[in-house]
This record gives sequence, structure tokens and C-alpha cells, in this order.
Amino acid sequence: MTKYIFITGGVVSSVGKGVTAAAMGRTLKERGLKVSIQKLDPYINVDPGTMSPYQHGEVFVLDDGAECDLDLGHYERFIDVSLSRDCNVTTGQIYSEVIGKERRGDYLGGTIQVIPHITNEIKRRMALVARHSGADVVLVEVGGTVGDIESQPFLEAMRQMRTDVGRENALFVHVTWLPFIGATGELKTKPTQHSVRELRSLGLSPDIIVARSDHPVSADLRQKIALFCDVTEQAVIPMVTTDVLYEVPLLLEQQRVADLILGRLGLTASRAPDWSRWQALVEEVRRPKAKVRVAMVGKYVELQDAYMSVREALKHAALALSREVEIEWVHSVDLEKGRAWEQLRGVDGIVVPGGFGSRGIEGKIAAARHARENAVPYLGLCLGMQIMCVEFARYAFGTDDANSTEFDRGTRLPVIDLMPEQRSIADLGGTMRLGLYPCQLTPGTKADEAYDLPAGAIVQERHRHRFEFNNIYREPLAAKGLVFSGQSPDGRLVEIAEVAGHPFMLGTQFHPEFLSRPNRPHPLFQAFVAAVIARREATDPNGGEAH
Ligand code: GLN
Repeated sequence: MTKYIFITGGVVSSVGKGVTAAAMGRTLKERGLKVSIQKLDPYINVDPGTMSPYQHGEVFVLDDGAECDLDLGHYERFIDVSLSRDCNVTTGQIYSEVIGKERRGDYLGGTIQVIPHITNEIKRRMALVARHSGADVVLVEVGGTVGDIESQPFLEAMRQMRTDVGRENALFVHVTWLPFIGATGELKTKPTQHSVRELRSLGLSPDIIVARSDHPVSADLRQKIALFCDVTEQAVIPMVTTDVLYEVPLLLEQQRVADLILGRLGLTASRAPDWSRWQALVEEVRRPKAKVRVAMVGKYVELQDAYMSVREALKHAALALSREVEIEWVHSVDLEKGRAWEQLRGVDGIVVPGGFGSRGIEGKIAAARHARENAVPYLGLCLGMQIMCVEFARYAFGTDDANSTEFDRGTRLPVIDLMPEQRSIADLGGTMRLGLYPCQLTPGTKADEAYDLPAGAIVQERHRHRFEFNNIYREPLAAKGLVFSGQSPDGRLVEIAEVAGHPFMLGTQFHPEFLSRPNRPHPLFQAFVAAVIARREATDPNGGEAH
């Protein structure tokens, strides 16, 4: 029998509900339980793939090609699992499924309603995760906060699910926020009380309240929340903002949350938790270390959530090399306008992450040129790899005509072009080349060396793109020093390219950042950061002082 933990939010969003859910999952996994986790997103889009990163932050991609909420990234990094398409459900998906069935005549004669048709479909999706994963515990997080109109069917489905599986098999966690009133210097519990009341009006009562706050929460306050919200004092979990994201599972552990959950759900741990590696990780993050500076050249830099996994992957790699990475957020449009160049010149490494559309492209190309000409380590991710190839072609052919047809449809030198299988596709949603595809490494290249596998091994990496390197330019560019260090096993598609004779200038058509884990950095990120450190140490004999 699978047990369910339902996680709702109260008061305000963006208080780390996703991280809390992920960390809670980790505390259960540490006890030998099989854990899976699902996010229910109440928006009407079928997936976030068509949303602007400004709206939504990063689009996270899973092995099976699902384009997901960035919380799925937190889930995978904290719990160290590979999730599947079932794990991110949106209102858009639920309605298209139900409407599709209605058109087929599956409900012939009936009136289709939110209850039971929509709620049944939501419940079916929850059960699907349990069935496909075979998990002992499925955590189900609903996006937004209680009281939002669009989350109501999801909350109602949770309420029904509790009855369907039996109360002893379902547990509700409510994550709230305690605002701090500066004038009186106190934390307030009233919004938490109100949001719990809102939850109760929907027939749900929390078993555990995670009270997020920027300030320490006193025992009195904890008692007060327990009293007004009708939970035990131990079930009120104060969660003070931490500067180290990966500390959250340890903070939950200190408060014995997992034991509380196990007791309440009648589960037994098959082993004692071993936090030694996490503790070491958090200590290593806190330990003063020499810093390295890396520029992230993108067009959504105002919203750093847009590059969540890239940022985390850089941190993981730096940590493994006992460094702290400082990211300079450089707007590619600024570079076009002659601004931010001082910022770019001050770094020892440049990352050009993924992206779409022509805005800021020339700024990214200029950043790649700066990296190539000045031997600055460069890592190009998807679009960043395409940019690197375009820049290299401009240099090799001695003309700025080289481009990607994404930005200049009629370019004379289409170094990057639409993939043939993409030409007949009209819909934009969910139609890219998505998810895990194999890449065969070329022996003797930087990429091959970084992965450190038997020479010429095949690696599996996650993709999200429509355009690819145009094979008619392979020979002429290879002759000028562009190395194709990874390709699809059939040899048709360039997966990794690198610039010969440069300390580290490498681009991947895939997104290695999605597979990086805190304790297991991605080899390409690690090789990049190693090159950044080498440059730092070559220019500064002290290797950058600690702090
Ligand atoms: N826009 C490019 C393409 O579709 C790159 C996509 C990306 O960076 N994810 O191929």
C-alpha cells in the first residue's frame, strides 16, 4: 500500500515549498524507503515548455523528455532519483485528457463536471506515480497557495484521495510563512492561522505545519501556532531561511520530521539515516574557500531562477574542487551595446546557457569570441554550443555571414540549421527533440577525457532543441580546428564540439546541468571549472585568496 504525503502552501508562494518537499523526500529515503514525488501545477498550460523563463523560471527536462517545473530539478537533486512524465501534472493536461475522452464518447450521455470527472483524472494521475514508481511513499506538492481559484480541484482531489486510500495512509503538510514586522520586531502567526482556516474550509486539516521564516521562531510562537491551528507542538516545524540550500534535509532531521511522518503513517525504517555525506557537503559549502569567477551570459539574467540547474551544476563542480564559484550575471544585450565588458573581462570562465529567439544573440557571439581569442574557458550549453560554432565559423570563414537559421532564416552560411525531422512540425509545445539520447564520445578529446570512461564510450544526456549543427560544415570547420568530440551513435548529429588548441572551449547540444547532483557533479562542468581554476592560478600565484 503506497502512502501519500500531500504538501500545500499558505500565505505566499516562493517560500521554498518545493525544496521543503524535496528535502522531506530525502529524509524518508535515508530511512530506506522508496520515495517518489509529484508536482501538481494549477496553470492551464499543458507544460511550462511554451512559457517565458520570466514567467516561470527554468524549464527542467526529464529522461523521458517531459518539460517540467523547476521544482522537479530540486526533487531529483535532493532525492537523487530520475523522475518521469507522470511526476508533473498541470490543469492543462487534466482538461485535455478529459475533453479528449468526452470527444471520443467515453462519457456518452453524461455531463462532464469538475467533480467527479476532473478530480477523478487528478486522482488517476496521483495513483499512476505510485504504480509506476512502486514507491512506499509518494509526496504530492500542489503549486501556488491555498485559496487560489485554480488550485481548488487539486485540493478537492487530495481530500477525496485521503478517503480513497484511508486516513492512516495520507498525511497533509502545510508550508506557510511567518512575516516579520520591523516596527515591533516580531514574527506574526495570523496569516498562518488564516491559511489553515482556508484549508479547513476545503475539508483538509494539516498534520504538520512547516513555518518558514527569516528569523528564529520561539517556543512560544510554536505553541501558539499549534494551539490555533490544532496540531501538536512537535508537528509545528519552524524552518528558518538558510544560506545553504542543501542544509534543509538536515534541518528537517534535527526536528525529527521523518520520525513524525513514519509514526503517523505506520511506516518503519529499514535502516538508520546516514547523513555523513550531506553533513560533509554542507560543511564544505560553509568552509571559506578560494573563489573563482564565472560569467553567465544570458538574456534572462534578471531572473536567476531561469538558470537554476546551471547555477547548481556550477556549484556542485566547484565544491568538488574545493572552490566557491561566484557567478557574474551578464546580460547579452548589454554586451551588444558595449556595456558589461569590464564585468566579462574580470572573469576566468564563461558559460553561455540555453535559450531561444534572436534577442541578445550577437552579444553571446561576442562573448564566445572573447573566450576564444583570450583563451578564457568557455562552456556552451545547447544554444551556447550553437553560438560557439557560429562564432568559430565566422572566424574560420572570415565573414560575419555565418549564423543559425533560427536567427537569420536566409543566412548564406547556415552553420546551425533546423533538424530535418523538425521541418514539418507546426505546433510549438512539446515538439522539440526532448529527453535522453545517446552520445558517442570521440577518443582523445577533452570531452572524452572529462567523462573518464573507456575510450569512445556512449553517454546518455538530456536534450531540448530544434536546431543542430549543419553537417555540410563539418569538414571545412574541422580543417580549421573545430573538433567534434561527441556525436549520435549513427554519426548524424553533432552532440559535442570543442575548439582545438584552446585550454577549454567546449559546447554540448544537450543539457548536462540536468544530471548534476550535489555529491556527483557532472564531468563536463567539473572539467570546465578545473580549467577556470587553472586560469585563475596562472594569472594569480595565490590562486585567489579565501574570502
Ligand atoms: N534555440 C536552440 C534550438 O532550438 C537552442 C535550444 C536550447 O538552448 N535549449 O536548438
